[in-house]
Amino acid sequence: MSDLRVVIIGGGLGGLALAQGLHQGGVRVAVYEKDPTPDFRNQGYRIRINPDGIIALQAVLTPQAFEVFAATAGNPGSRMDVFDHHLNLVHAQELPQAAGLPGGGNLAVNRRTLRQILLSGLERCVYYGAEFTGYTTEASGAVTAHFADGTSATGDILVGADGVNSATRRQYLPQAQVVDARLRLIYGKLPLAGDEIGARIPPELLGLWTTVLGPDKRFVGLAPVRFRAPMAQATARLAPDMQLGDESDYLACVFGARRELFPCTDSELFAMKGGDLRALTLSLVQGWDPRLVEMVADQDPASIFPVSVRTSVPMPRWETTAVTLLGDAIHVMSPAIGVGANTALRDAQVLAGRLTEAAGGRPLAQALHAYEEEMLGYGFDAVRESAARGHRLVGQDLLPSIKG
Ligand SMILES: Cc1cc2nc3c(=O)[nH]c(=O)nc-3n(C[C@H](O)[C@H](O)[C@H](O)COP(=O)(O)OP(=O)(O)OC[C@H]3O[C@@H](n4cnc5c(N)ncnc54)[C@H](O)[C@@H]3O)c2cc1C
Repeated sequence: MSDLRVVIIGGGLGGLALAQGLHQGGVRVAVYEKDPTPDFRNQGYRIRINPDGIIALQAVLTPQAFEVFAATAGNPGSRMDVFDHHLNLVHAQELPQAAGLPGGGNLAVNRRTLRQILLSGLERCVYYGAEFTGYTTEASGAVTAHFADGTSATGDILVGADGVNSATRRQYLPQAQVVDARLRLIYGKLPLAGDEIGARIPPELLGLWTTVLGPDKRFVGLAPVRFRAPMAQATARLAPDMQLGDESDYLACVFGARRELFPCTDSELFAMKGGDLRALTLSLVQGWDPRLVEMVADQDPASIFPVSVRTSVPMPRWETTAVTLLGDAIHVMSPAIGVGANTALRDAQVLAGRLTEAAGGRPLAQALHAYEEEMLGYGFDAVRESAARGHRLVGQDLLPSIKG
C-alpha cells in the first residue's frame, strides 16, 4: 500500500469505479456518499455500457468481478432504430461490433446490479450517510473534506465524483455552468419476463435502443434488459462471496418532450407520483399506435419518476491543484447518445491509472494534469455531441456559447 491518500466524494458509478481501480493499484482510498445506504433512492434502471465503458470496467475491476459483470449484463444486440408514432420504421441503424468485447461491445446492465458489483470488496472504504459540505486546503498541501455531521477526512487528493449538483465543483470551479436543456423525461419500466405483457411487445421494438418519434419531437425510448442467468446462479459460479439483489427482465420506457409541451409546471411535475406520471404520459401520447400506448399503460407505477435534462457547458482549462473532478460533476450531458456513465467510467480508468503512477513515484501534479488534459478532451466532446444529437432528434436547446 502506498502513502498516497485519495478522498472521493460520491459513491455513484464513477466514484466507485475509481475506488475499485485505486484499490487494485494498492492506493489508499476512501469514498464518502451522502445517501444513507446503497439502495436509498431510485437511481434509474437500464444503462447501456459501450466499448469505452466495458474497457474501463475491465481495467478497474478484479477479473472475477468483471466476469460477474459480463455474465449478468443483457446482450441486446446493436440495433438503434427510429420509428414514427404509427410504428413505421423511419431510420434503421446498426452499431459496429467491437470484436473481443462481451456483447460485441454493447451491453444493457441494470444500474443497481452494476453498483453492487462496483461496491464488492470496497465495503470497508465506502462511508454512507456522509454529506460533503466543502473542503479546506492545509498548509501541507493536503485537502480536508468536511461533512454535514461535523466530521472530516483528509487526503493528498480530493476527487469530486458527486454528480450533476456537485458541491465540490461549486466550490472549486464556481464559474462552471450547468444549464437546463429544456427537456423533461418520465422514466419507468414494464416487466418482460413471466408475464403476458412481454409477449405483446413487437419484437422489432426490442433492439439495443429504439426511439419512437411523435409530433413536436415528443418521443418514447425503449430498451430491454434481459438477464442471461439469475443473479444467484452467476455469483455462485463466478464469485460466491458476492451478493447481488435479484432482478427480473424488463423494458425501460422513457417518455420525453420539451418543457413547454407539458401541461404543468416543473414543481407540479416533480411532485407527481407513479400513477399520475403514467396518466400524464398517456395524455401526451394520445393517438399514437395502440401497441405503444399499451406499453406506456403497462409501466409499473412504482417504477416511474421524472427527470430534468441538464448539460454542462464546455469551459476553458483551469490550473491543476490537489482537487479534481470526475463524471457528471464536470461533464454532465444529455442522455441523447447514452454515454454519460460510460464517460464517467472512462474517467475512473484514466484517473486510477495516473494516480497509481503517482503512488509509484510520478510527481502528483503531473499525474493529475495528465488526467485532466485527457478527460476534458473526450468529456467535453461527448457533451457537445450529446447536445447536438439531442437538439436534432428531440429538440433540446442548443448549448449556449461559452462565457469567459
Ligand atoms: C434517465 C437516464 C438514463 C441514462 N442512461 C444512460 C445510459 O444508458 N448510458 C450512459 O452511459 N449514461 C446514462 N445516463 C447518465 C448516467 O446516469 C450518468 O452520467 C452517471 O450516473 C454519472 O456517474 P457519476 O458517478 O458521475 O454520478 P452519479 O451516478 O450521479 O453519482 C454521484 C454520487 O454522488 C453522491 N453525492 C452527491 N452530492 C454529494 C455530497 N454532497 N456528498 C456526498 N455524496 C454526494 C450522489 O448521492 C451519488 O451517489 C443516464 C442518465 C439518466 C438520467
